Amino acid sequence: MTQKYKIVNIKTSSGPKEEASILIIYTGGTLGMVYDNEGALIPFNFSQIKQQIPLLKDHDLGITVISFPQPLDSSNVSSAHWADIGYIVYQNYRQYDGFVILHGTDTMAYTASALSFMLEGLNKPVILTGAQLPIGAMRSDARENLFTSIEIASAKKDGHPKICEVCIFFDNHLLRGNRAKKVRSSEFSAFASENHPPLATAGIKINYNYPHMKRPYQKDFSLNLKDKFDNNVAVLKLFPNISEALVKSILTTKGLKGVVMETYGSGNAPTEKWFYKALEKAISSKIIVMNVSQCIGGNVIQGRYETSKQLQAVGVLSGRDITMEAAITKMMLLLGEEKDHEAIKAMLITPLAGEMA
Ligand code: ASP
Repeated sequence: MTQKYKIVNIKTSSGPKEEASILIIYTGGTLGMVYDNEGALIPFNFSQIKQQIPLLKDHDLGITVISFPQPLDSSNVSSAHWADIGYIVYQNYRQYDGFVILHGTDTMAYTASALSFMLEGLNKPVILTGAQLPIGAMRSDARENLFTSIEIASAKKDGHPKICEVCIFFDNHLLRGNRAKKVRSSEFSAFASENHPPLATAGIKINYNYPHMKRPYQKDFSLNLKDKFDNNVAVLKLFPNISEALVKSILTTKGLKGVVMETYGSGNAPTEKWFYKALEKAISSKIIVMNVSQCIGGNVIQGRYETSKQLQAVGVLSGRDITMEAAITKMMLLLGEEKDHEAIKAMLITPLAGEMA
């Protein structure tokens, strides 16, 4: 663990029996802010959550909040924080019915993706949420997002949690975490998941999209935590006129082990000789290159066009319909956890947590 955490227990139930027990992990972001007397935004004290969200009293919930000592803007979140969040879930897995992670929106899709690969055998809901406006603001989306996330995290069907995967809940939509992307910075609908339908939609009722949700394991598998990340990776985003010098400087970075290459459309790239030579050289020196599209929806199909045939031939892996956020976090975790080069490549192109079709 990188730091000491603050723990707050909140009992919303009036009677002795709680409907569900929820662990909220507060990492920071806009959601947890309120205005102080001078009008500045400051992180709000979670022991006052009942004042902020009086409706919580109507549910018999046992809520524990574990708060990062220094709430973070999510631009400062790193793999050390992913490891901490994973550890907190892992340590508290048996005691709680569900987990809600409050997180800034900017890198929420990376954290959700990372956690989906880290928490192997997950059979309970882990819901990340945040807000575009602080909880103390008049028109804030924070209350809605937080309250519905808690409701989804406590929802059960036939004694099993309805959701048993890592998700993002935002603007009335529950998305698979490793399929989601932040696509808007100033609207409430900040996230999209173009390649996988929402797992639930919240209106008057919460409608679950059962055919597209991960099925719960009937037997209770124990949770396994993987938390070693290798950051010797790069994202190479192509653009027209990209220079040989830039491509080569990225591909010859000292210690580099993996590259997520963001290509055009269905996985296309320039056909210039120098480009393929640079890729070929990198791949022959055991650098893994994975092809992910710059489009927010659709699939990489290497060989569909002339401009992607050669990528397949030099050994570039197809990321199919994976998001860049899921590809880079999966690559870092596999490089950190596994030693065998061929096994890492095989796992990269195999769906591990519903991240690709
Ligand atoms: N910059 C903030 C963050 O990601 C934005 C937000 O919370 O929505 O932490």
